[in-house]
Amino acid sequence: MTDFTMETGADGVAIITWDTQGKSMNVMNQQGFIDLDALIDKALADDAIKGVILTSGKEGSFAGGMDLNIIARIKESAGDNPAQGLMDGLMQCHNILRKIERAGMDPKTNKGGKPIAAALPGTALGIGLEIPLACHRIFAADNPKAKIGLPEIMVGIFPGMGGTTRLVRKMGAMAASPLLLEGKLNDPKKAKQAGVVDEVVPADQLIEKAREWVLSEPNIVKPWDEKGYKMPGGAPYHPAGFMTFVGASAMVHGKTQGAFPAAKALLSAVYEGALVPFDTAIKIEARWFTNVLMNPSSSAMIRSLFINKEALEKGANRPDVADETVRKVGVMGAGMMGAGIALVSAQAGMEVVLIDQKQEAADRGKSYTADYMDKGIKRGKATEAKKDEVLGRITATTDYAALKGCDLIIEAVFEDPAVKAEVTKAVDAVTDDNCIFATNTSTLPITELAKASKNAENFIGIHFFSPVEKMMLVEIIKGRDTGPRAVAKALDYVRQIRKTPIVVNDARFFYCNRCIIPYINEGIRMVAEGVAPALIDNAARQLGFPVGPLQLVDETSIDLGAKIARATRAAMGDDYPDAAVDEVIFWMEGEGRLGRKTAKGFFDYDDKGKRQGYWSGLEEKYPRAEDQPDLITVQHRLMFAQVLEAVRALEEGVLEDIREGDVGAILAWGFAPWSGGPFSWLDILGTPYAADRCDELAEAFGPRFATPALLREMADKGQSFYGRFAGEKAAA
Ligand code: NAD
Repeated sequence: MTDFTMETGADGVAIITWDTQGKSMNVMNQQGFIDLDALIDKALADDAIKGVILTSGKEGSFAGGMDLNIIARIKESAGDNPAQGLMDGLMQCHNILRKIERAGMDPKTNKGGKPIAAALPGTALGIGLEIPLACHRIFAADNPKAKIGLPEIMVGIFPGMGGTTRLVRKMGAMAASPLLLEGKLNDPKKAKQAGVVDEVVPADQLIEKAREWVLSEPNIVKPWDEKGYKMPGGAPYHPAGFMTFVGASAMVHGKTQGAFPAAKALLSAVYEGALVPFDTAIKIEARWFTNVLMNPSSSAMIRSLFINKEALEKGANRPDVADETVRKVGVMGAGMMGAGIALVSAQAGMEVVLIDQKQEAADRGKSYTADYMDKGIKRGKATEAKKDEVLGRITATTDYAALKGCDLIIEAVFEDPAVKAEVTKAVDAVTDDNCIFATNTSTLPITELAKASKNAENFIGIHFFSPVEKMMLVEIIKGRDTGPRAVAKALDYVRQIRKTPIVVNDARFFYCNRCIIPYINEGIRMVAEGVAPALIDNAARQLGFPVGPLQLVDETSIDLGAKIARATRAAMGDDYPDAAVDEVIFWMEGEGRLGRKTAKGFFDYDDKGKRQGYWSGLEEKYPRAEDQPDLITVQHRLMFAQVLEAVRALEEGVLEDIREGDVGAILAWGFAPWSGGPFSWLDILGTPYAADRCDELAEAFGPRFATPALLREMADKGQSFYGRFAGEKAAA
């Protein structure tokens, strides 16, 4: 069985149908290219065939993209010259697409050739759009759920099968930039408006419309193969084009701070490709694509953000327990988190009971969903009917009796063990014995909180990040006595709300906050040492963090940091390591500089809340040191502060799977996504270098950088994290 089949009708129109065996959506692999190539050859050689329609055998979709595992396989099979292997492999694919595009035309006169139409029943992503772009006309079914685009940049690569070169030549660099640089996806109508697809037709007429066009003897010469072709919007040396290219370069650098190799390579491929004829441009694109694929960052990003993220979403670490799909969820506490949890649960189709102490508070929590849906309606993303439907699923009340029939409870009341215990007991009194109880605590040990429950086996942590509806990670925490059914329920719930789960064991701050806090603290420590605040935040941004540590404190608030510090100090006693940090934050707290919410923090803010420069009082209190550290030292302090916590979490068994450590870090706090996550970063550095660097940092800055035993042992044996732990859960 092959993924591509061809049937020719009496009218001479051949229909090539793509239907990847054993998958719900088409995915391109090496064999797929070979099969498609053979059918194209056959269609072009057969005089009885007048033209071709390329479509999909899957209902509602054309193709989801490339099987990204192929890249690793090509590299491996190319022996000691993987770059040449990749370049050769890429050029073979390009030749197939170019053959489709030229379709047998005479190279000099552009005469002859057979029309080839792409007919997309729905979603067409990545290579699933690059192949249609090589066809002569793209028909898309009017399927509003379909997504059309080139999302490659999101996983650290760029469209490298001609998508970059063709889209820029079809639409112009300016119009193509959100599609290429941000991976923006459109529904078919918007894709037509943008100029990506040529026609949107009713789904049941898709093939007929394409057939009519194929039989209409259309002009199939691509504009860039005609004499005198001019790029829409202007090529780089055209005055208008010049502005676009200069602007795009500055914009991309401003956004990525140069930390993402794929964005830079994409721009180079576009710019250099725009200066030369099409076939040369394709070679340039292939070279830059090879360059990106050879960068360890791209393999790490693909592994974490595509392969492993998907594996976790599909339940890689789900216990073998029957389906635990949630039908009715009780949300305790309708504050900031509870309101968000109610919203995402109702959106996912669950019945929601939202409880607070007072009816007004419960209603206010529900109104968060109403406001959210209203915003969606304004932006054309929701309808009044959808709003009514979602709101109709939420019952806002103070009455615990409404919780009857809930199969999951998520508690998000105040961060106070006594309040949480009281709520747990009151809930247990009205729910069935098999109802799972989850707490959204961010700091309190799950095992301790479970003591208030009638059955600790059914008690678990489901830790959301704020704002709930935006943040894609959910951290699931197993208490000492948490049973497999509770884990399965939590994972099934996260799957229903379409977020990514990680499952960790119970320990102070679990996994994510445990790593974020040292990042923030290292930044604050440097302030106390007299390091320029701008150097600290910019060093982080140039590593690809969305915000620097000082800005992050302002966003989350100083008093929250002070509260956590006090609680941690009380719990740890003499072992508490962060007195130097506390000195700064307690002082800031005393000065009323609580962060953005008071319009005063590490930064000054104007009347509208817009961030201004760093507060001058900082420098008065902590004068700037004459000798400022170099950028790499600041960056290494910030990175190692986090990754060493991740290694310790693995050593202590808090993390059971390094894939979760990497995916979680990127999704929860924006850990340098280009690195693939903390463990991938250590693998990129190499454990021997990483361990030696820790020794140096420990010598210079203190024992918090001491090389963990696991890292030292791995360094001595020359092991990598993915090498060593691949045999365990991290199979990717
Ligand atoms: P919040 O103060 O905004 O909301 C708490 C709500 O719980 C309030 O509406 C309060 O009236 C209600 N409440 C208190 N006692 C109650 C009771 N006995 N019965 C019913 N309702 C009661 O707090 P929040 O920021 O939403 O945080 C809630 C929980 O989520 C905390 O455990 C917090 O640590 C955790 N959390 C917060 C964040 C965050 O960024 N804010 C992130 C992750 C986890």
